[in-house]
This record gives sequence, structure tokens and C-alpha cells, in this order.
Amino acid sequence: MQSIPSQARVVIIGGGIVGCSVAYHLARRGCADVLLLERRQLTCGTTWHAAGLVGQLRATHNLTRLAQYTTQLYAGLERETGQATGFRQTGSVAVAASEARFEELKRGASMARCFGLEVQILSAGEARERWPLLSIEDVVGAVYLPKDGRCNPVDTTQALARGARMRGARIVEGVKVTGVLRAGGRVTGVTTDAGEVRADVVVNCAGMWGREVGAFADVSVPLQAAEHFYIVTEPIPGLPSGLPVLRDADARSYFKEDAGKLLVGWFEPVAKPWATEGIPESCAFEQLPPDLQHIEPLFAGAMRRVPILETTGVQVFFNGPESFTPDDRYLLGEAPELRGFYVAAGFNSIGIQSAGGAGKVLADWIIDGHPPFDLWDVDIRRCAPFQRNRRYLRDRTVEVLGLLYAMHWPYLQAESARGVRKSALHDRLLAAGACFGEVAGFERANWFAAPGVEARYEYSYGRQNWFAASAAEHRAVRETVGLFDQSSFAKFALKGPDAAGVLNRVCANQVDVPVGRIVYTQWLNERGGIEADLTVTREAEDAYLIVTACATQTRDFLWLTRSIPQEARAVAVDVSSAYAVLGLMGPKSRELLQALTDADLSTAAFPFGTSRIIDLGYARVRASRITYVGELGYELYIPTEFAQSVYDVIVEAGARFGLRLAGYHALNSLRIEKAYRHWGHDISDEDTPIEAGLAFAVAWEKPGGFLGREALLRQRAGGVRRRLAAFALERADRLLYHNEPIWRNGELVGKISSGMFGHTLGAALGLGYVASAAEPVSAEWVAAGRYEIEVAAERVPARVSLRPFYDPAGERVKC
Ligand SMILES: Cc1cc2nc3c(=O)[nH]c(=O)nc-3n(C[C@H](O)[C@H](O)[C@H](O)COP(=O)(O)OP(=O)(O)OC[C@H]3O[C@@H](n4cnc5c(N)ncnc54)[C@H](O)[C@@H]3O)c2cc1C
Repeated sequence: MQSIPSQARVVIIGGGIVGCSVAYHLARRGCADVLLLERRQLTCGTTWHAAGLVGQLRATHNLTRLAQYTTQLYAGLERETGQATGFRQTGSVAVAASEARFEELKRGASMARCFGLEVQILSAGEARERWPLLSIEDVVGAVYLPKDGRCNPVDTTQALARGARMRGARIVEGVKVTGVLRAGGRVTGVTTDAGEVRADVVVNCAGMWGREVGAFADVSVPLQAAEHFYIVTEPIPGLPSGLPVLRDADARSYFKEDAGKLLVGWFEPVAKPWATEGIPESCAFEQLPPDLQHIEPLFAGAMRRVPILETTGVQVFFNGPESFTPDDRYLLGEAPELRGFYVAAGFNSIGIQSAGGAGKVLADWIIDGHPPFDLWDVDIRRCAPFQRNRRYLRDRTVEVLGLLYAMHWPYLQAESARGVRKSALHDRLLAAGACFGEVAGFERANWFAAPGVEARYEYSYGRQNWFAASAAEHRAVRETVGLFDQSSFAKFALKGPDAAGVLNRVCANQVDVPVGRIVYTQWLNERGGIEADLTVTREAEDAYLIVTACATQTRDFLWLTRSIPQEARAVAVDVSSAYAVLGLMGPKSRELLQALTDADLSTAAFPFGTSRIIDLGYARVRASRITYVGELGYELYIPTEFAQSVYDVIVEAGARFGLRLAGYHALNSLRIEKAYRHWGHDISDEDTPIEAGLAFAVAWEKPGGFLGREALLRQRAGGVRRRLAAFALERADRLLYHNEPIWRNGELVGKISSGMFGHTLGAALGLGYVASAAEPVSAEWVAAGRYEIEVAAERVPARVSLRPFYDPAGERVKC
């Protein structure tokens, strides 16, 4: 039995590439009191059998930054530690066998350029020049990333471990963590089979064991292992050495030249979850039985792309387990359930290429107490508590492995493990033709199919099959009245004599307002970054209702509860499930609602920005005059069990007012015309209200100030170097989604943060930050530019505005 210290500042659980990277980066930041515990031997989990591909292009800017950093780190690690890593930058080629795939690749290439990655778009012939064994009969085009690389995962892990040890970290093999110690909502250490270790911070880097290790501390770590297959061929005479990695997503295959042989791996559409009841105790350097029947169709696809495989023998049929998460993104950061307990797990088969960056930012997060930049895509706070449910994970894992190489269509919806969370109105919406999308397990109507039309997505990069239906919903909201089911909103009650004081410190806007007022506000961190974007309604002197997005339910509730000082007389309760929400929006909304209630709805009696309890049908509901679509309208907060009866009376009365059910795609189109920001896309914890154009919602001088004020004041005095603006494409045949590069006078100045077609304006719209390193970004600077947005490698002229394109004065909202 190994002897271990009884105390360490940080204990890391797991000695795969991720745990070693976290140890390395903590030590490099000067935090050497680190103890890494590995139950068996370093790399014995998933790391040892990885194919070693190190690509750089990820779905978002910041994840690409992390992958880019990984390649830079691995390139210098051998020099630094003396331990070989096998790292080589041979580049990668991705081929497209359809126009749609080529558009996906070209959109990726545009994004890559915007992120500073070197990338070339190739014809089929040029792709074959780079990869001579390629069959290009059906190849439409390809992209080449010259700086992508490959490494030896075991050696790279050893190099990270050596680098950590050189700086004082201790790495102990053969010690299993058996429990997590906690006191007062904080982690205090771990129990192991070699004794107890007290610690301030514990990091769960246990790979596919991560869910079980999380459960030691009642922390939800939603991941599930699945089988992952590759083969290695016999030596292929004449196979050029140093070939780029080849990816053919249409054939679900990747190819890596390896010492004169080819390693060929797959991401099949229907995967095989493994060890759903828990990872066996004996698991170390595990090889699962090959399943030739399972890989046969995949092999056939690979042979079509690289015909020499037809006449080449196979030396190794490999099958190893790797962990997958419900949305194919890894889990990083401090767990919401327990202070000081961090997670870096669930790497969805990109753990080697992610480990460098993930280790670095997690070390920064631990030492600084916050992430170094916006990491929402991988932040563990995005997960809903139900997602640790084993059956859900098993069923979703069947699909997510294959999604890595599936077409990444705009608006793509998962097909597995659906119907988890449903609004009380779900069945009514379904009967009315709703096509649902899912957010954190919540089914939400995205659009409504006309009678006789199947409510099903037909995906493309152009106008999808729901375009016309959604346009009609949009028009109803602008011209008559639309009804949205927004029950998925997260809702928190904050009550107590100190509620106003507590909340006013958290909110940048003034929320110590008369009862019945609604306040739009941001919650800021001490750097002035936007942690949350929400509305606060004062229900009583000592009671508030806080409403935020479904996707940020866990994160925002955590921010709120952690902001309540221990001595404060205020209690926060998550009341999301207590209320259904209907958004009744459009110029006829008042008339329609007035037909159903005795309450006086006139502007004088019930102006914009106020909220009251009114009779509606046989129910009492909270009506709030607020909007996310830029029209006169009401959000109705209805106790859940009354939702159906209220819905029925509205729909029945609505016919004569031209009422139309509307979905989230229409909502998105309406809100982007008004340039209403969306947290997670247009605003994040690294954007300030000044940069985001939200300074109007900052109560600079309110008594007592607010968290983040000092940082904002500094920025206001110094001027900003980036600003959010609205863009409209001059050509109607191209659509914007997100991440499209923004060019100003021929210079790259930013990227689109969210995009949608605006049906009233008749143009593809986007919001996006424009930045200048050289000078402050003033309104004049923005207006003086000539703009183009790059869509799939083609620049399209665009109009710009700092104000909303639609109803910039907000007259329609306040009438
Ligand atoms: C066939 C295959 C090919 C792949 N190819 C690539 C590729 O080309 N590129 C790429 O980027 N990724 C690839 N991957 C994915 C990559 O291998 C993983 O994402 C990565 O290795 C995960 O590293 P990790 O440190 O999170 O997990 P692991 O390597 O599994 O490390 C976790 C460690 O935690 C230890 N542990 C667990 N519980 C405890 C406990 N209670 N106490 C102490 N220790 C504990 C385990 O023993 C294990 O060593 C591939 C995966 C597979 C299966």
C-alpha cells in the first residue's frame, strides 16, 4: 500500500491525460501543493488506447482557443520535460461527399479563419494530392488544416506528469479514492484505500468513472461510457509517412497513418453504451471484445474512401470504452452542488486534443475563483440535475457518439431520450401541430405545422421546411396576436425582509422599486461581465419573482443563493415547476385579454413594465407587461394546474382576434429584429453591459452600488474596444446562424454571435461584436465602416446598426 500525505491544497482524482494536465497547469501557476491519486496506473483508463488525433477546430471560438493551445503546449512539452510525446504537426484533411457537407466544411473554414487558424479550402483533386490513396469519385471538396497534429497519448500524459512533478506536484499510483469529505457545503478532502487526505479543493478527473466519483459527493456528473472502435492494418507498402489525418464524416471514418500502417476509426450512428450499471472494479488497460458485425458497414464505407483497405490485412481490431455526455460537450468547472469540488470529465472522444486547454483553464478557474473567459459551452452548470439518470444517459449515449460525425445542421435536435420534461400544455400544442425542440430536457414548441403537414424537421443550410410556417407565426405577432408557451422559463422566488437589499446588490439595475414593477437587469461579476440576464418583478415589499432562461436555471439559481449573505433574512426558492407561462404578444393582445378579464388593461392603469394579478377564465394569474418580441404583450404566470383551463379560454376567444400559436423559431426571429440579446450567445460572463449595449439597464448611482460597478466605471472612463451591433445581410439567399466572420473595410473585426431570418425586415439578421485593437469603438466608428459577413467562405455585404432595426424607439412596446 502506498503512503500518501494527510493533507494537500488540491487533490486530483484520476491519472489520465486530463488529471495530469490539471496537475501540470496548477503547478505551473505556482500551486505545487497538489496530490494526484490514480487507482491503478497512469493512463490505464481511456487514455492509453486513444488514436492520438489532435485537431484544433471546435464548434465555438473559445473551445477552438483551447484546442489551439493544446497543440502549442504539446509541441513544446518534450523540450520542456525531456519526455518524448510523439507530437507531430502533419495537418488534417476533411473531405465532403455532398454539397451540404461541403457547406458545413466551408462554414467551419470561415469560422477557423476568424479564430486565427490556418485553413485552406481544397478541390477534390487537391485533396488527393495531399492524400494520394483517396478515392475522390464522389468528393465535392475538402478543407485542410495544416497545423493539426497527432501525438502518442501515453507519452504525452507521462510528459505532463513529469512536468507537474518537476514543479513539486505529487502523483501517486495505486491509491483509490473511496469517498469525498464535506462540511458546510464545501469539500474538505477525500477518503482513500490508503487513508484520509484533507484538501481545500478536489478535482474529479476520473474519466468514465466520473459519474460514480461525483456520486460520492452527491454531485451530478452526467456521462456514460460507450464502446469506440478502430482497426490498425498490416503494413501498407509505399504508404507515405507523415500523411495528414484524414476525416470523412460522411463515411463516419477517420484515418491516421501510423508507422507504415493505417489506423481507421469510426463514429457510428448507433453506438453501444458500455457498463451502464457502473464501471467494473477490474477495469484497467481494458480492451472490449471486437464486434465485427457492428463495424462491418463502417469498414465498407472506409474501403470506399480508401480502396487499398480492400486488399490490406487487419492487424488489430480495437474496441475501448470512452465517456460521452448528453450534449457531446465535456464537463468542466466547479460543481454547483459543492464548493471546492471541480470536474473535468466526459471528453466525448476528444480528450487528448482537449486536455491541454481544459487543464489550463481549470487550473486558472481553481486559482482565480472564476473561469478565465466564457466557457459556458462546457460549464458543468449547464447540466440539469435529472441528467445523471442512468436510463436517460444510456438511451442518449446510443445517439451522441455518432453525432460527432453527423451533419451539424442548424437547429438539429437529438432524437433519443426525448419527452423528459413537458409543459402542462404539451399535449394541446402537439395536437395543434407543434414541432418540438429540446433544451435541458424540456420540450418546447419551435414551430407549428399546418393541418395535414407532418411536424418534422427537414434540415438544410438554407431555408428549412418550417420557414414559411414560422414566418406566418412571426407575422401574426407583428400584425394581430400570437401565443407562446414559455413554461420552460426558470423562476425563482426571493422572500424575506432583506430580499430587496440582497437583490439590489446582485442586480446592476435598481430593483428597490414599487410593488408591481418589473425590472430588466443583468447580474455582473466583479469584472463587470454578465453572469445572468433576466427580469425581476417585485411581488410584495418582501418578495420578488425572478425569471430567467431554462438553459441557465442551475447557474442562475446558484449565483442567487451564493449571493445571499449568511446573516441576511432572505430565502431563495426555485419555483420553476410551480408556474406555466404563456406569452400573449401582438397589437391585439390587449383586446383579447380584456375580453377575458375584468381588470383594467388600459395603458394608464397597466403600463409597460408592470405586473399584476388578474382574473383570467376561472383562474387568478400574474400578468406582466413585458416582451421579448418588441410588441404590446403580456407574460402570464399561471399556477401549473390552472394552465390548461387558462390556455383553453385564450385559444377559444382568440379566434376572432386572429390569434395564432407561435414557436421559439418565430420568437427568435422577432427578438433579433429588436436586437434583444440572448445570454449564452450575445452576452456572457466576459462581456460587459457597456460592450453589449445594455448600459441603459445599469443604475450607476443607486445607493449601495452593485457587484461589478467599479469595473464598469473603469471601463466607462476608458472607453470600450468592442461593441455589439446588429447586422442585416444585403442578400436574402444566405442565412446567418452564428460564428460567421464580420469584415469591416476589408478587415476582420468580429463574428456573429447569433443569427436568424427577420421576417418583417425580410433579411438574414445577426448580432455580433466588432472590435478594434487600435482605437475606441465609438458609435461613429461603427457607423463609418463598410461591412461584409463571411458565409461559407463567401463575403456578403451587410448593413449595420447599433440600434434595433425594428422599431428602434420602442413605441410599439409601450403603447
Ligand atoms: C478508441 C478511442 C480512440 C480515441 N481517440 C482519440 C483521439 O484520437 N483524440 C482525442 O483527442 N481523443 C481520443 N479519444 C478520447 C480520449 O482517449 C479520452 O477522451 C481521454 O483519454 C480521457 O482522458 P481522462 O483523463 O478524462 O480519462 P481516463 O484516461 O480514463 O483517466 C481517468 C483515470 O481516473 C482513474 N480513476 C477512476 N476512479 C478513480 C478513483 N476512485 N480513484 C483514483 N483514480 C480513479 C482511472 O483509473 C483512470 O486512469 C479516444 C478514445 C477511444 C476510446
